[in-house]
Amino acid sequence: MPLSHKRGWPMRQLIAASSVILLVACAEKPTAADAQPLPVTPPAPAVTTSAPSTDIPFVQPAQSFSEWQANFRVQALNAGISPQVFDNAFADITPDMSVIKADRSQPEFSRPVWEYLDGALSPLRVRNGQRLLEQNAELLSRIEQRYGVDRQVLVSVWGMESNFGSFQGNKSVIRSLATLAYEGRRPEFAQSQLISALKIIQQGDISAEKMLGSWAGAMGQTQFIPTTYETHAVDFDGDGRRDIWNSSADALASTAHYLQSSGWKQGQPWGFEVMLPAGFDYALADGAVKKTVAEWQQLGVLVPDTSSGSEQLSATLLLPAGYRGPAFLVLDNFRAILRYNNSSSYALAVGLLSQRFNGGGNIMAAWPKDDRPLSRSERVELQTLLSERNYDAGNADGIIGANTRKAIRSAQQAMGWPADGYPSHKLLESLRSR
Ligand code: CA
Repeated sequence: MPLSHKRGWPMRQLIAASSVILLVACAEKPTAADAQPLPVTPPAPAVTTSAPSTDIPFVQPAQSFSEWQANFRVQALNAGISPQVFDNAFADITPDMSVIKADRSQPEFSRPVWEYLDGALSPLRVRNGQRLLEQNAELLSRIEQRYGVDRQVLVSVWGMESNFGSFQGNKSVIRSLATLAYEGRRPEFAQSQLISALKIIQQGDISAEKMLGSWAGAMGQTQFIPTTYETHAVDFDGDGRRDIWNSSADALASTAHYLQSSGWKQGQPWGFEVMLPAGFDYALADGAVKKTVAEWQQLGVLVPDTSSGSEQLSATLLLPAGYRGPAFLVLDNFRAILRYNNSSSYALAVGLLSQRFNGGGNIMAAWPKDDRPLSRSERVELQTLLSERNYDAGNADGIIGANTRKAIRSAQQAMGWPADGYPSHKLLESLRSR
């Protein structure tokens, strides 16, 4: 049930705490939970901006594109793709430089999570979602019955992934994936997606020409990557084709099928906002630390009245902007959403948007808007300084993963600060001055 408008808090102290980082520049690394599944959508720039970026330089591959294509053709045919399907799909295919550019772009600035949520939960999107819930009520009932996934979250994912089908991407999926397989940063991943894409075409679900998607190969109203499509796309409208591009019924049911497989529990909340007591051990706000809601309550975590019934559910504590910002307990359904796109800011947006359709999903605590996320170069500097001071932050790659969070906590503990693992400016400045 959604966190209601009314303030259902037992009043006491409300010092928030934190440790899970949301400002990861790209979702390649887990940000919240320990879920390690294959995301449905490719690494998404959930919290990045298109502002200045340091691009990874383009390196001309050793082989030409046509040499690569000839080698890959052998591989594809070995995987069961017919020569006709392959040759038709690859007719006139050349590398797409815009895909290379997007793949190699490393944005310097991250959008703060509160700005990301403002965009994701815009009043217009909420209104459109409400309208579509009404228009598709009968369809959504049948999908709920079949897959046991709540309609609000399906429409929320639909809104987040493609703005309800209106932004699906208009690049040739074969061309994008061929480009990434030829010279991208993760060629093996792109090759396996490309084989899947060819299989989808071979099965007759869609033609190569009409198989359009994002630069990273995410397709249709659900933005499924080809391997996820192969395993989870369904033909729900019964026309014999799985058409996540043109059929909302197929797209929504495919989303439901994937969330069901990811462990969605019908009728359970994704999570809820909580308040933490003074002196709370912020190091517990770590995706690896799971406790029942009741156990969190015993530690002094204040939960809203609307969480009633969730006491025995397994939860982790999420602090998207460090201990100074809002705190959330997140449950299995949050982890199911993370399997769609492994970014905790994305999962938070999906959860909150699904509640906004019913007038809920408002966050009570204030965001620390005076503390902008560190830029990419500042994150690299922070990691370097931490490691220099014997707090092993792993590779200085600008990605705040588990190692870096652990190093930040150790440094915070040594200074007697709240150990929320959050990369703040204050921490960076403190390390610089030592
Ligand atoms: Ca269909």
